[in-house]
Amino acid sequence: MNIILLGPPGAGKGTQAKQLEEQFNLVQLSTGDMLREEVKAGTALGQTAKKIMDAGELVPDDLIIAMISDRIDQAKGKNGVILDGFPRTTPQAEALDQMLAEKNIQLDHVIQIEIAEDIIVARLSGRFGCAKCGAGYHDEFKQTQKEGVCDECGSTEFIRRSDDNPETVRNRLAAYEKQTAPILPYYAAKGTLQKVDGLGEIEEVYHRVEEIVSGGS
Ligand code: AMP
Repeated sequence: MNIILLGPPGAGKGTQAKQLEEQFNLVQLSTGDMLREEVKAGTALGQTAKKIMDAGELVPDDLIIAMISDRIDQAKGKNGVILDGFPRTTPQAEALDQMLAEKNIQLDHVIQIEIAEDIIVARLSGRFGCAKCGAGYHDEFKQTQKEGVCDECGSTEFIRRSDDNPETVRNRLAAYEKQTAPILPYYAAKGTLQKVDGLGEIEEVYHRVEEIVSGGS
């Protein structure tokens, strides 16, 4: 089963993808996570990407397409992939179609998580994660049970994304409206797009996503 999760930054794509990954033995392929790994490792791609990401803009299509193609190949042997944060432009969506056809992979669900802009800003500007296991938290909505200690792994180190500041968030939202939202009609025209309300507790939203995924293929 292969799934695309679409929606603006802060819609909860990564959170939902992690749950789907676990329940259905899929591989979450987040282009944002991949780029952050490249930045951390100090690769040439990471150095190029860092400036663009901190500005809240999109990394060039050719770099993203090459990166994701390899990862799709590496995921062979699992039950499928969840694409999280890709595609984000029309050329990426077209390249993905071609890639999937060449690799003989079928796309089962394209799910758009819908969320209002004021909620996005509130969500993004308080989030942080465990530096060790990646568990996600929020200053207001999801604190650790014991202050300063990760619920999942006990680590005391946390990180905040450098692009979760108000100015960059505004640019990321603008990039979404201008470059990513136009791909929604592309999938709608193919008849594969399904919408989910992204408002509510993580489990409520997951239930909506799961209904689509379980009811389909
Ligand atoms: P995300 O973690 O999905 O919010 O992505 C963080 C940042 O990485 C974005 O603001 C972009 O700068 C970059 N990025 C992630 N995925 C893509 C993509 N598919 N195309 C272009 N840039 C991307």
